[in-house]
Amino acid sequence: MITRFAPSPTGLLHLGHAFSALTAWARARAAGGQFLLRIEDIDTPRCRPAYEQAIYDDLHWLGLSWAEPAMRQSDRLPAYDAALAQLAALGLTYPCSCTRADLRAALSAPQEGHGPDGPIYPGPCRGRAMTSRRPGDAIRLDIARAMARTGPIRFTETAAPRAGVHVIAPEDMRASVGDVVLARKDIGTSYHLAVVVDDAAQGITEVVRGEDLFAATSIHVLLQTLLGLPTPSYHHHRLIRDEAGKRLAKRDDARAIRHYRAAGLTPADTRALVGL
Ligand code: GLU
Repeated sequence: MITRFAPSPTGLLHLGHAFSALTAWARARAAGGQFLLRIEDIDTPRCRPAYEQAIYDDLHWLGLSWAEPAMRQSDRLPAYDAALAQLAALGLTYPCSCTRADLRAALSAPQEGHGPDGPIYPGPCRGRAMTSRRPGDAIRLDIARAMARTGPIRFTETAAPRAGVHVIAPEDMRASVGDVVLARKDIGTSYHLAVVVDDAAQGITEVVRGEDLFAATSIHVLLQTLLGLPTPSYHHHRLIRDEAGKRLAKRDDARAIRHYRAAGLTPADTRALVGL
């Protein structure tokens, strides 16, 4: 088994990250496998070298190790371009110039569906030729065409309460996901495309991450299927919450791993705080 932890260096790691990294590491270790690290630093305006260094330091302090050097998404842009070109060659993508304001106006009915990335795209640019791409356009996946090509998609979840095989039909993908953005106009790729290309490149066989990303998994499995990449199994774990029941966010500095470290807690104390 090969698992990974894939943080973005946009803040200090908190207890939720500790739980996720320790879970991925423990699952690989229990299976005699390997744990890998990936720095998801494509959202460049928010990423900081100091946060990347803090990720290495905090994970080492927790007792984790991985094959060095860690993969960094900022080194991988050509691989994302190649995947995008592969999907474009299949006739499954189109350029989109819609602004947020355009989308709000097009989404007249507030009860329109919501997907993992927000409201389901209402379609003004669907059908545009890739040759009409202008600087500043995003690239979207035509979900109906994509699903016509693959048929229902499936993946295996290994964590309770969703453990089992999940099969998602084309009509459900159209309603619950819609035409997702594969390449943002600012970074030339998207979280979805990058994560799929990189999980395959790192040979990940089980993706361990928080349950907030369960809804995005169908997009990832669809992209794997279209790109001819293997589908790993998925393990979406519980989220660590604060006393008010809110999931921790990067701005919750009080729950940063470094804060507990500075306060004199040991790695074992930190594991105990997240129930490990
Ligand atoms: N980079 C993402 C995050 O920090 C995690 C991506 C993933 O595990 O698929 O939330």
